[in-house]
Amino acid sequence: MLLAHRGYDVTIVEKASVPGGRNAPIQAGPYTFDTGPTFLHQKFTLDEVFAETGRKTEDYMEFVKLDPMTTLTWGDVSMETSFNQETMTQNIEKAFPGEAANYERFMSDHAKKLETIFPCLLTPYHKISSYFKSKMIKALPYVATKKSVMDVLSEYFDDERLKLAFTFQAKYLGMSPWNCPALFSILSYIEYAHGIYHVQGGLSNISMGMAKVFEEEDGNFMFDTEVKEITYHGKKAATVLLADGTSMKCDDLIVNADYAHARSTIFGEKNEPPESLLKKKYSCSTYMLYLGLDTIYEDEPHHHVLFADDYHQNLRDIQDEKIVSADASIYIRNSSITDPTVAPKGHSQLYILVPTINTRNQHPWEDDQDAYEEKILDRIIENTGMKDLRDHIVKKRCITPQGWEEANIFIGATFNLAHTMDQMLYFRPRNRLNGFENIYLVGGGTHPGSGLPTIYESARISANLICESHGIQRDRVDFASAILSSANS
Ligand SMILES: Cc1cc2nc3c(=O)[nH]c(=O)nc-3n(C[C@H](O)[C@H](O)[C@H](O)COP(=O)(O)OP(=O)(O)OC[C@H]3O[C@@H](n4cnc5c(N)ncnc54)[C@H](O)[C@@H]3O)c2cc1C
Repeated sequence: MLLAHRGYDVTIVEKASVPGGRNAPIQAGPYTFDTGPTFLHQKFTLDEVFAETGRKTEDYMEFVKLDPMTTLTWGDVSMETSFNQETMTQNIEKAFPGEAANYERFMSDHAKKLETIFPCLLTPYHKISSYFKSKMIKALPYVATKKSVMDVLSEYFDDERLKLAFTFQAKYLGMSPWNCPALFSILSYIEYAHGIYHVQGGLSNISMGMAKVFEEEDGNFMFDTEVKEITYHGKKAATVLLADGTSMKCDDLIVNADYAHARSTIFGEKNEPPESLLKKKYSCSTYMLYLGLDTIYEDEPHHHVLFADDYHQNLRDIQDEKIVSADASIYIRNSSITDPTVAPKGHSQLYILVPTINTRNQHPWEDDQDAYEEKILDRIIENTGMKDLRDHIVKKRCITPQGWEEANIFIGATFNLAHTMDQMLYFRPRNRLNGFENIYLVGGGTHPGSGLPTIYESARISANLICESHGIQRDRVDFASAILSSANS
Protein backbone atom coordinates (compact mmCIF):
# COMPACT_ATOMS: atom_id res chain seq x y z
CA MET A 1 0.00 0.00 0.00
CA LEU A 2 2.93 2.35 0.67
CA LEU A 3 4.54 1.78 -2.72
CA ALA A 4 1.22 1.84 -4.61
CA HIS A 5 0.43 5.16 -2.93
CA ARG A 6 3.83 6.47 -4.02
CA GLY A 7 3.01 5.76 -7.65
CA TYR A 8 4.76 2.43 -8.21
CA ASP A 9 3.10 -0.28 -10.27
CA VAL A 10 2.70 -3.00 -7.62
CA THR A 11 1.42 -6.56 -8.00
CA ILE A 12 0.97 -8.85 -4.99
CA VAL A 13 1.18 -12.55 -5.87
CA GLU A 14 -0.57 -14.49 -3.07
CA LYS A 15 -0.90 -18.25 -2.87
CA ALA A 16 -3.99 -18.10 -0.65
CA SER A 17 -7.48 -16.92 -1.64
CA VAL A 18 -7.55 -14.06 0.86
CA PRO A 19 -5.01 -11.50 2.05
CA GLY A 20 -3.37 -11.64 5.49
CA GLY A 21 -1.29 -14.82 5.73
CA ARG A 22 -0.91 -15.52 9.46
CA ASN A 23 -3.27 -12.59 10.01
CA ALA A 24 -6.03 -13.82 7.68
CA PRO A 25 -9.50 -14.85 8.85
CA ILE A 26 -10.56 -18.49 9.19
CA GLN A 27 -14.20 -19.02 8.36
CA ALA A 28 -15.81 -22.10 9.92
CA GLY A 29 -19.52 -22.08 9.09
CA PRO A 30 -20.96 -18.92 10.67
CA TYR A 31 -17.93 -18.40 12.96
CA THR A 32 -15.03 -16.11 12.02
CA PHE A 33 -11.67 -16.68 13.72
CA ASP A 34 -8.36 -14.90 13.57
CA THR A 35 -5.72 -17.34 12.37
CA GLY A 36 -2.93 -15.88 14.51
CA PRO A 37 -2.68 -12.41 16.08
CA THR A 38 -5.21 -11.44 18.73
CA PHE A 39 -3.32 -8.65 20.56
CA LEU A 40 -2.63 -5.39 18.72
CA HIS A 41 -0.13 -3.34 20.64
CA GLN A 42 1.87 -0.28 19.53
CA LYS A 43 -1.14 0.85 17.48
CA PHE A 44 0.67 4.08 16.65
CA THR A 45 2.89 2.19 14.16
CA LEU A 46 -0.16 0.99 12.23
CA ASP A 47 -1.57 4.55 12.38
CA GLU A 48 1.70 5.90 10.96
CA VAL A 49 1.65 3.45 8.06
CA PHE A 50 -1.91 4.44 7.14
CA ALA A 51 -1.04 8.13 7.59
CA GLU A 52 1.80 7.71 5.09
CA THR A 53 -0.96 7.15 2.51
CA GLY A 54 -3.04 10.10 3.77
CA ARG A 55 -5.50 7.85 5.61
CA LYS A 56 -6.72 7.06 9.11
CA THR A 57 -6.92 3.51 10.41
CA GLU A 58 -10.27 4.31 12.07
CA ASP A 59 -11.83 4.81 8.61
CA TYR A 60 -10.98 1.19 7.75
CA MET A 61 -11.55 -0.72 11.00
CA GLU A 62 -13.11 -0.34 14.42
CA PHE A 63 -10.74 -0.57 17.40
CA VAL A 64 -11.65 -1.44 20.97
CA LYS A 65 -9.02 -0.56 23.57
CA LEU A 66 -9.37 -3.36 26.11
CA ASP A 67 -9.61 -2.66 29.84
CA PRO A 68 -9.13 -5.00 31.64
CA MET A 69 -6.59 -6.27 29.13
CA THR A 70 -5.75 -9.84 30.14
CA THR A 71 -6.57 -12.14 33.04
CA LEU A 72 -3.51 -14.04 34.20
CA THR A 73 -3.98 -17.22 36.24
CA TRP A 74 -1.43 -19.19 38.22
CA GLY A 75 -3.25 -22.07 39.92
CA ASP A 76 -5.67 -20.39 42.31
CA VAL A 77 -4.23 -16.85 41.99
CA SER A 78 -5.51 -14.56 39.24
CA MET A 79 -4.84 -10.95 38.32
CA GLU A 80 -6.35 -8.65 35.69
CA THR A 81 -3.94 -6.36 33.85
CA SER A 82 -4.71 -2.79 32.82
CA PHE A 83 -3.06 0.13 30.99
CA ASN A 84 -4.61 2.35 33.66
CA GLN A 85 -1.72 2.69 36.09
CA GLU A 86 -3.96 3.33 39.10
CA THR A 87 -6.00 0.18 38.42
CA MET A 88 -2.86 -1.84 37.73
CA THR A 89 -1.27 -0.65 40.98
CA GLN A 90 -4.37 -1.75 42.91
CA ASN A 91 -4.56 -5.11 41.12
CA ILE A 92 -0.89 -5.86 41.78
CA GLU A 93 -1.14 -4.86 45.44
CA LYS A 94 -4.21 -7.08 45.89
CA ALA A 95 -2.68 -10.19 44.29
CA PHE A 96 0.97 -9.58 45.32
CA PRO A 97 1.05 -7.36 48.42
CA GLY A 98 4.12 -5.12 48.65
CA GLU A 99 4.96 -5.18 44.92
CA ALA A 100 3.11 -2.05 43.71
CA ALA A 101 6.10 0.24 44.17
CA ASN A 102 8.19 -2.16 42.08
CA TYR A 103 5.65 -1.83 39.28
CA GLU A 104 5.92 1.97 39.42
CA ARG A 105 9.72 1.75 39.22
CA PHE A 106 9.47 -0.67 36.25
CA MET A 107 7.13 1.67 34.38
CA SER A 108 9.24 4.74 34.98
CA ASP A 109 12.54 3.06 33.98
CA HIS A 110 10.99 1.45 30.92
CA ALA A 111 9.51 4.69 29.59
CA LYS A 112 13.12 5.82 29.24
CA LYS A 113 14.32 2.46 27.93
CA LEU A 114 11.67 2.36 25.21
CA GLU A 115 12.28 5.94 24.13
CA THR A 116 16.00 5.14 23.81
CA ILE A 117 15.67 1.81 21.99
CA PHE A 118 12.74 2.59 19.72
CA PRO A 119 14.62 4.73 17.13
CA CYS A 120 17.10 1.87 16.64
CA LEU A 121 14.32 -0.38 15.36
CA LEU A 122 13.25 2.01 12.60
CA THR A 123 16.27 1.87 10.31
CA PRO A 124 17.89 -0.92 8.31
CA TYR A 125 21.16 -2.54 9.37
CA HIS A 126 23.12 -3.15 6.22
CA LYS A 127 26.53 -2.28 7.62
CA ILE A 128 28.17 -3.20 10.91
CA SER A 129 28.95 0.54 11.20
CA SER A 130 25.19 1.05 11.84
CA TYR A 131 26.04 0.03 15.43
CA PHE A 132 28.12 3.19 15.79
CA LYS A 133 25.35 5.69 15.00
CA SER A 134 24.60 7.96 17.96
CA LYS A 135 21.11 6.55 18.59
CA MET A 136 22.54 3.02 18.71
CA ILE A 137 25.36 4.08 21.02
CA LYS A 138 22.77 5.52 23.44
CA ALA A 139 20.86 2.23 23.33
CA LEU A 140 23.91 -0.01 23.73
CA PRO A 141 23.65 -0.35 27.53
CA TYR A 142 20.20 -1.90 26.99
CA VAL A 143 21.15 -3.95 23.94
CA ALA A 144 24.75 -5.11 24.46
CA THR A 145 24.12 -7.24 27.52
CA LYS A 146 23.93 -10.96 28.12
CA LYS A 147 20.95 -10.46 30.41
CA SER A 148 17.61 -12.03 29.54
CA VAL A 149 14.15 -10.51 29.91
CA MET A 150 13.76 -12.60 33.07
CA ASP A 151 17.03 -11.20 34.50
CA VAL A 152 15.69 -7.69 33.94
CA LEU A 153 12.39 -8.46 35.65
CA SER A 154 14.21 -10.00 38.60
CA GLU A 155 15.69 -6.54 39.20
CA TYR A 156 12.15 -5.28 39.83
CA PHE A 157 9.87 -7.96 41.27
CA ASP A 158 10.19 -10.57 44.01
CA ASP A 159 7.28 -12.86 43.28
CA GLU A 160 8.05 -15.27 40.43
CA ARG A 161 4.44 -15.14 39.23
CA LEU A 162 4.43 -11.38 38.97
CA LYS A 163 7.64 -11.53 36.95
CA LEU A 164 5.73 -13.70 34.49
CA ALA A 165 3.06 -10.99 34.15
CA PHE A 166 5.82 -8.79 32.73
CA THR A 167 7.60 -11.43 30.67
CA PHE A 168 4.94 -13.61 29.04
CA GLN A 169 4.86 -11.08 26.18
CA ALA A 170 8.05 -12.80 24.93
CA LYS A 171 5.49 -15.23 23.49
CA TYR A 172 4.94 -12.71 20.67
CA LEU A 173 8.47 -13.57 19.61
CA GLY A 174 7.93 -17.26 20.30
CA MET A 175 10.69 -17.15 22.92
CA SER A 176 11.18 -17.99 26.56
CA PRO A 177 11.83 -14.92 28.78
CA TRP A 178 14.77 -16.87 30.21
CA ASN A 179 16.40 -16.81 26.75
CA CYS A 180 14.91 -13.68 25.25
CA PRO A 181 17.39 -10.73 25.11
CA ALA A 182 16.95 -8.06 27.80
CA LEU A 183 15.97 -5.35 25.36
CA PHE A 184 12.58 -7.07 24.89
CA SER A 185 11.42 -6.15 28.39
CA ILE A 186 10.03 -3.15 26.45
CA LEU A 187 7.24 -5.41 25.14
CA SER A 188 5.30 -5.64 28.40
CA TYR A 189 5.94 -1.95 29.02
CA ILE A 190 4.41 -1.05 25.62
CA GLU A 191 1.29 -3.03 26.57
CA TYR A 192 0.98 -1.72 30.11
CA ALA A 193 1.69 1.89 29.12
CA HIS A 194 -0.09 2.15 25.78
CA GLY A 195 -2.73 -0.59 25.93
CA ILE A 196 -3.81 -3.40 23.64
CA TYR A 197 -6.55 -3.32 21.05
CA HIS A 198 -9.12 -5.66 19.63
CA VAL A 199 -10.43 -4.96 16.11
CA GLN A 200 -14.12 -5.65 15.63
CA GLY A 201 -14.59 -8.66 13.37
CA GLY A 202 -11.09 -9.83 14.34
CA LEU A 203 -7.55 -8.56 13.88
CA SER A 204 -7.65 -10.02 10.37
CA ASN A 205 -9.67 -6.89 9.54
CA ILE A 206 -6.36 -5.02 9.71
CA SER A 207 -5.21 -7.11 6.74
CA MET A 208 -8.55 -6.47 5.01
CA GLY A 209 -8.23 -2.71 5.64
CA MET A 210 -4.73 -2.71 4.16
CA ALA A 211 -5.92 -4.70 1.14
CA LYS A 212 -8.67 -2.10 0.58
CA VAL A 213 -6.16 0.75 0.67
CA PHE A 214 -3.92 -1.16 -1.75
CA GLU A 215 -6.79 -1.55 -4.23
CA GLU A 216 -7.84 2.09 -3.81
CA GLU A 217 -4.28 2.97 -4.82
CA ASP A 218 -4.65 0.81 -7.97
CA GLY A 219 -2.50 -2.04 -6.63
CA ASN A 220 -3.05 -5.37 -8.36
CA PHE A 221 -3.82 -8.55 -6.37
CA MET A 222 -3.34 -12.05 -7.82
CA PHE A 223 -4.90 -14.50 -5.35
CA ASP A 224 -4.68 -18.31 -5.57
CA THR A 225 -1.40 -17.77 -7.38
CA GLU A 226 1.81 -19.46 -6.29
CA VAL A 227 5.33 -18.21 -6.96
CA LYS A 228 7.47 -21.17 -8.03
CA GLU A 229 10.83 -19.65 -8.85
CA ILE A 230 12.79 -16.45 -9.21
CA THR A 231 15.16 -16.10 -12.18
CA TYR A 232 18.09 -13.68 -12.35
CA HIS A 233 20.26 -11.35 -14.38
CA GLY A 234 23.44 -11.34 -12.34
CA LYS A 235 22.56 -10.18 -8.82
CA LYS A 236 19.15 -8.91 -9.88
CA ALA A 237 15.86 -10.78 -9.81
CA ALA A 238 14.59 -10.59 -13.39
CA THR A 239 11.39 -12.62 -13.47
CA VAL A 240 9.08 -14.55 -11.22
CA LEU A 241 7.76 -17.84 -12.55
CA LEU A 242 4.30 -18.80 -11.35
CA ALA A 243 2.98 -22.30 -10.74
CA ASP A 244 0.75 -22.02 -13.83
CA GLY A 245 3.84 -21.45 -15.99
CA THR A 246 3.36 -17.69 -16.42
CA SER A 247 6.45 -15.54 -16.17
CA MET A 248 6.31 -12.01 -14.71
CA LYS A 249 9.08 -9.43 -15.12
CA CYS A 250 10.02 -7.34 -12.13
CA ASP A 251 12.15 -4.23 -11.52
CA ASP A 252 12.22 -4.81 -7.78
CA LEU A 253 11.03 -7.88 -5.89
CA ILE A 254 9.70 -7.97 -2.34
CA VAL A 255 9.56 -11.39 -0.67
CA ASN A 256 7.01 -11.67 2.15
CA ALA A 257 6.72 -15.48 2.35
CA ASP A 258 8.16 -17.06 5.52
CA TYR A 259 11.91 -16.36 5.27
CA ALA A 260 13.46 -19.83 5.55
CA HIS A 261 10.62 -21.46 3.60
CA ALA A 262 11.07 -18.97 0.74
CA ARG A 263 14.87 -19.03 0.87
CA SER A 264 14.89 -22.80 0.45
CA THR A 265 12.15 -23.10 -2.19
CA ILE A 266 11.53 -20.13 -4.51
CA PHE A 267 15.05 -18.75 -5.07
CA GLY A 268 15.65 -21.26 -7.91
CA GLU A 269 19.36 -21.58 -8.71
CA LYS A 270 20.12 -19.46 -5.61
CA ASN A 271 18.05 -21.53 -3.14
CA GLU A 272 19.75 -22.07 0.22
CA PRO A 273 19.68 -25.75 1.25
CA PRO A 274 17.34 -26.55 4.19
CA GLU A 275 20.30 -28.14 6.05
CA SER A 276 22.05 -24.79 6.08
CA LEU A 277 18.91 -22.93 7.18
CA LEU A 278 18.39 -25.49 9.95
CA LYS A 279 21.63 -24.23 11.53
CA LYS A 280 19.77 -21.06 12.51
CA LYS A 281 17.64 -20.77 15.65
CA TYR A 282 13.88 -20.72 15.31
CA SER A 283 10.90 -19.76 17.43
CA CYS A 284 8.48 -22.20 19.02
CA SER A 285 5.31 -23.31 17.28
CA THR A 286 1.71 -23.32 18.48
CA TYR A 287 -1.06 -25.87 18.79
CA MET A 288 -4.35 -24.14 17.93
CA LEU A 289 -7.99 -24.92 18.58
CA TYR A 290 -10.71 -22.73 17.13
CA LEU A 291 -14.09 -23.58 18.68
CA GLY A 292 -17.55 -22.40 17.61
CA LEU A 293 -19.93 -22.54 20.60
CA ASP A 294 -23.73 -22.43 20.82
CA THR A 295 -23.48 -20.30 23.97
CA ILE A 296 -21.60 -17.23 25.22
CA TYR A 297 -19.51 -17.33 28.38
CA GLU A 298 -20.22 -13.71 29.37
CA ASP A 299 -18.24 -13.96 32.62
CA GLU A 300 -15.06 -15.24 31.03
CA PRO A 301 -12.42 -12.64 30.12
CA HIS A 302 -11.57 -11.52 26.59
CA HIS A 303 -7.93 -12.64 27.00
CA HIS A 304 -6.99 -15.29 29.55
CA VAL A 305 -3.55 -16.86 30.12
CA LEU A 306 -3.36 -20.04 32.23
CA PHE A 307 0.28 -20.50 33.18
CA ALA A 308 1.70 -24.02 33.40
CA ASP A 309 2.25 -25.13 37.01
CA ASP A 310 5.96 -25.28 36.21
CA TYR A 311 6.20 -22.53 33.60
CA HIS A 312 10.00 -22.59 33.49
CA GLN A 313 10.06 -26.32 32.72
CA ASN A 314 7.30 -25.85 30.14
CA LEU A 315 9.47 -23.25 28.37
CA ARG A 316 12.61 -25.39 28.69
CA ASP A 317 10.74 -28.23 26.94
CA ILE A 318 9.74 -25.84 24.16
CA GLN A 319 13.24 -24.42 23.85
CA ASP A 320 14.75 -27.93 23.59
CA GLU A 321 12.40 -28.63 20.65
CA LYS A 322 11.90 -32.31 21.62
CA ILE A 323 9.17 -32.89 24.23
CA VAL A 324 5.55 -31.75 24.13
CA SER A 325 5.07 -30.58 27.74
CA ALA A 326 2.52 -32.51 29.76
CA ASP A 327 2.10 -29.34 31.85
CA ALA A 328 1.25 -26.71 29.20
CA SER A 329 0.47 -23.00 29.35
CA ILE A 330 -2.75 -22.11 27.54
CA TYR A 331 -4.01 -18.83 26.14
CA ILE A 332 -7.76 -18.49 25.58
CA ARG A 333 -9.47 -15.66 23.73
CA ASN A 334 -13.18 -15.18 24.25
CA SER A 335 -13.66 -12.17 21.98
CA SER A 336 -17.42 -12.62 21.69
CA ILE A 337 -17.85 -10.75 24.98
CA THR A 338 -16.48 -7.66 23.18
CA ASP A 339 -17.42 -8.39 19.59
CA PRO A 340 -20.85 -9.65 18.49
CA THR A 341 -19.81 -9.93 14.83
CA VAL A 342 -17.68 -13.09 14.98
CA ALA A 343 -20.47 -15.59 15.75
CA PRO A 344 -24.26 -15.78 15.26
CA LYS A 345 -26.54 -14.22 17.91
CA GLY A 346 -26.38 -16.17 21.17
CA HIS A 347 -23.28 -18.03 19.98
CA SER A 348 -19.60 -17.32 20.49
CA GLN A 349 -16.19 -18.57 19.51
CA LEU A 350 -13.06 -19.45 21.44
CA TYR A 351 -9.51 -19.21 20.14
CA ILE A 352 -7.12 -21.44 22.08
CA LEU A 353 -3.33 -21.26 21.65
CA VAL A 354 -0.83 -23.58 23.28
CA PRO A 355 2.84 -22.65 22.72
CA THR A 356 4.72 -25.83 21.85
CA ILE A 357 7.72 -27.30 20.04
CA ASN A 358 8.37 -26.63 16.37
CA THR A 359 8.76 -29.57 13.99
CA ARG A 360 12.57 -29.68 13.91
CA ASN A 361 12.47 -33.08 15.64
CA GLN A 362 9.32 -34.26 13.87
CA HIS A 363 7.01 -35.00 16.77
CA PRO A 364 4.25 -37.26 15.36
CA TRP A 365 1.26 -34.99 16.04
CA GLU A 366 -1.14 -37.14 14.02
CA ASP A 367 -0.62 -40.03 16.51
CA ASP A 368 -1.78 -38.28 19.67
CA GLN A 369 -3.66 -35.20 18.51
CA ASP A 370 -7.05 -36.30 19.92
CA ALA A 371 -5.61 -37.16 23.33
CA TYR A 372 -3.78 -33.83 23.38
CA GLU A 373 -6.96 -31.93 22.56
CA GLU A 374 -8.78 -33.68 25.43
CA LYS A 375 -5.97 -32.78 27.81
CA ILE A 376 -6.12 -29.10 26.81
CA LEU A 377 -9.92 -29.01 27.17
CA ASP A 378 -9.69 -30.71 30.59
CA ARG A 379 -7.28 -28.07 31.81
CA ILE A 380 -9.44 -25.21 30.54
CA ILE A 381 -12.54 -26.70 32.16
CA GLU A 382 -10.70 -27.17 35.43
CA ASN A 383 -9.26 -23.63 35.54
CA THR A 384 -12.08 -21.45 34.17
CA GLY A 385 -15.82 -21.02 34.63
CA MET A 386 -16.53 -22.93 31.38
CA LYS A 387 -17.45 -26.16 33.15
CA ASP A 388 -19.83 -27.38 30.42
CA LEU A 389 -17.58 -26.34 27.53
CA ARG A 390 -17.63 -29.75 25.81
CA ASP A 391 -21.45 -29.67 25.59
CA HIS A 392 -21.40 -26.42 23.60
CA ILE A 393 -18.82 -27.11 20.90
CA VAL A 394 -20.57 -27.11 17.53
CA LYS A 395 -17.64 -26.31 15.20
CA LYS A 396 -13.97 -27.07 15.51
CA ARG A 397 -10.78 -26.34 13.61
CA CYS A 398 -7.28 -27.30 14.69
CA ILE A 399 -3.78 -26.39 13.52
CA THR A 400 -0.84 -28.41 14.82
CA PRO A 401 2.82 -27.44 14.32
CA GLN A 402 2.78 -29.83 11.40
CA GLY A 403 -0.21 -27.91 10.00
CA TRP A 404 1.79 -24.66 10.20
CA GLU A 405 4.66 -26.33 8.35
CA GLU A 406 2.25 -27.50 5.66
CA ALA A 407 1.11 -23.85 5.42
CA ASN A 408 4.63 -22.92 4.21
CA ILE A 409 6.14 -21.98 7.58
CA PHE A 410 9.64 -23.43 7.95
CA ILE A 411 9.64 -26.18 10.64
CA GLY A 412 6.29 -24.74 11.78
CA ALA A 413 8.13 -21.99 13.69
CA THR A 414 5.15 -19.64 13.76
CA PHE A 415 7.11 -16.64 15.05
CA ASN A 416 9.90 -17.06 12.52
CA LEU A 417 13.66 -16.92 13.21
CA ALA A 418 14.40 -16.65 16.92
CA HIS A 419 15.13 -13.12 18.17
CA THR A 420 18.51 -13.88 19.72
CA MET A 421 21.18 -11.15 19.52
CA ASP A 422 23.07 -13.16 16.89
CA GLN A 423 19.93 -13.10 14.70
CA MET A 424 18.86 -9.49 15.30
CA LEU A 425 19.62 -6.11 13.69
CA TYR A 426 22.67 -6.50 11.39
CA PHE A 427 22.59 -10.29 11.90
CA ARG A 428 18.97 -10.82 10.78
CA PRO A 429 18.30 -11.35 7.06
CA ARG A 430 18.50 -7.78 5.77
CA ASN A 431 15.63 -5.72 4.44
CA ARG A 432 17.56 -5.53 1.14
CA LEU A 433 18.62 -9.16 1.01
CA ASN A 434 22.35 -9.75 1.11
CA GLY A 435 23.81 -10.87 -2.21
CA PHE A 436 21.01 -9.38 -4.33
CA GLU A 437 20.58 -5.89 -5.75
CA ASN A 438 16.81 -5.66 -6.05
CA ILE A 439 15.33 -8.25 -3.67
CA TYR A 440 13.78 -6.89 -0.48
CA LEU A 441 12.31 -8.73 2.49
CA VAL A 442 9.28 -7.85 4.61
CA GLY A 443 7.65 -9.75 7.46
CA GLY A 444 8.80 -11.52 10.58
CA GLY A 445 12.00 -12.99 9.09
CA THR A 446 13.71 -9.66 8.51
CA HIS A 447 14.49 -6.58 10.62
CA PRO A 448 13.00 -5.57 13.07
CA GLY A 449 11.30 -8.98 13.60
CA SER A 450 8.05 -10.85 14.29
CA GLY A 451 4.75 -9.33 15.51
CA LEU A 452 2.26 -7.05 13.81
CA PRO A 453 3.68 -3.58 14.49
CA THR A 454 7.13 -4.97 13.76
CA ILE A 455 6.24 -6.40 10.35
CA TYR A 456 4.51 -3.12 9.43
CA GLU A 457 7.77 -1.38 10.31
CA SER A 458 9.71 -3.86 8.13
CA ALA A 459 7.40 -2.95 5.25
CA ARG A 460 8.04 0.73 5.75
CA ILE A 461 11.82 0.23 5.91
CA SER A 462 11.85 -1.87 2.73
CA ALA A 463 9.48 0.50 0.87
CA ASN A 464 11.77 3.40 1.76
CA LEU A 465 14.85 1.46 0.62
CA ILE A 466 13.20 0.87 -2.75
CA CYS A 467 12.38 4.58 -3.04
CA GLU A 468 15.99 5.42 -2.13
CA SER A 469 17.28 3.05 -4.82
CA HIS A 470 15.27 5.18 -7.28
CA GLY A 471 16.75 8.39 -5.85
CA ILE A 472 13.72 9.39 -3.77
CA GLN A 473 14.20 10.13 -0.08
CA ARG A 474 11.07 9.64 2.07
CA ASP A 475 10.30 11.44 5.32
CA ARG A 476 8.66 9.17 7.85
CA VAL A 477 5.33 9.99 9.41
CA ASP A 478 6.18 10.01 13.10
CA PHE A 479 3.51 9.75 15.79
CA ALA A 480 5.71 7.59 18.03
CA SER A 481 8.22 10.21 19.18
CA ALA A 482 5.62 12.47 20.79
CA ILE A 483 3.77 9.50 22.37
CA LEU A 484 6.93 7.94 23.79
CA SER A 485 8.43 11.17 25.05
CA SER A 486 5.22 12.24 26.78
CA ALA A 487 5.16 8.85 28.55
CA ASN A 488 8.75 9.51 29.65
CA SER A 489 8.17 13.05 30.94
C1 LIG B 1 -0.74 -18.25 16.38
C2 LIG B 1 -0.12 -16.89 16.25
C3 LIG B 1 -0.43 -15.90 17.18
C4 LIG B 1 0.13 -14.63 17.05
N1 LIG B 1 -0.24 -13.65 17.93
C5 LIG B 1 0.20 -12.38 17.74
C6 LIG B 1 -0.35 -11.31 18.49
O1 LIG B 1 -1.24 -11.50 19.33
N2 LIG B 1 0.13 -10.05 18.25
C7 LIG B 1 1.09 -9.80 17.30
O2 LIG B 1 1.48 -8.64 17.11
N3 LIG B 1 1.61 -10.82 16.54
C8 LIG B 1 1.18 -12.08 16.72
N4 LIG B 1 1.63 -13.09 15.93
C9 LIG B 1 2.73 -12.82 14.97
C10 LIG B 1 2.22 -12.26 13.65
O3 LIG B 1 1.08 -12.92 13.25
C11 LIG B 1 3.27 -12.43 12.59
O4 LIG B 1 4.49 -11.82 12.99
C12 LIG B 1 2.89 -11.85 11.25
O5 LIG B 1 1.53 -12.02 10.95
C13 LIG B 1 3.74 -12.51 10.20
O6 LIG B 1 3.52 -11.89 8.99
P1 LIG B 1 4.45 -12.17 7.73
O7 LIG B 1 4.08 -11.16 6.71
O8 LIG B 1 5.86 -12.28 8.14
O9 LIG B 1 4.07 -13.64 7.24
P2 LIG B 1 2.68 -14.26 6.69
O10 LIG B 1 1.53 -13.58 7.33
O11 LIG B 1 2.82 -15.70 6.88
O12 LIG B 1 2.69 -13.87 5.16
C14 LIG B 1 3.33 -14.65 4.17
C15 LIG B 1 2.43 -14.74 2.96
O13 LIG B 1 3.16 -15.33 1.87
C16 LIG B 1 2.28 -16.20 1.18
N5 LIG B 1 3.11 -17.18 0.43
C17 LIG B 1 3.97 -18.10 0.95
N6 LIG B 1 4.60 -18.77 -0.05
C18 LIG B 1 4.11 -18.28 -1.21
C19 LIG B 1 4.37 -18.56 -2.59
N7 LIG B 1 5.26 -19.47 -2.98
N8 LIG B 1 3.67 -17.86 -3.54
C20 LIG B 1 2.77 -16.89 -3.16
N9 LIG B 1 2.49 -16.59 -1.88
C21 LIG B 1 3.16 -17.27 -0.92
C22 LIG B 1 1.45 -16.84 2.28
O14 LIG B 1 0.26 -17.39 1.76
C23 LIG B 1 1.21 -15.62 3.20
O15 LIG B 1 0.05 -14.91 2.85
C24 LIG B 1 1.05 -14.36 16.00
C25 LIG B 1 1.36 -15.36 15.06
C26 LIG B 1 0.77 -16.60 15.18
C27 LIG B 1 1.08 -17.63 14.12
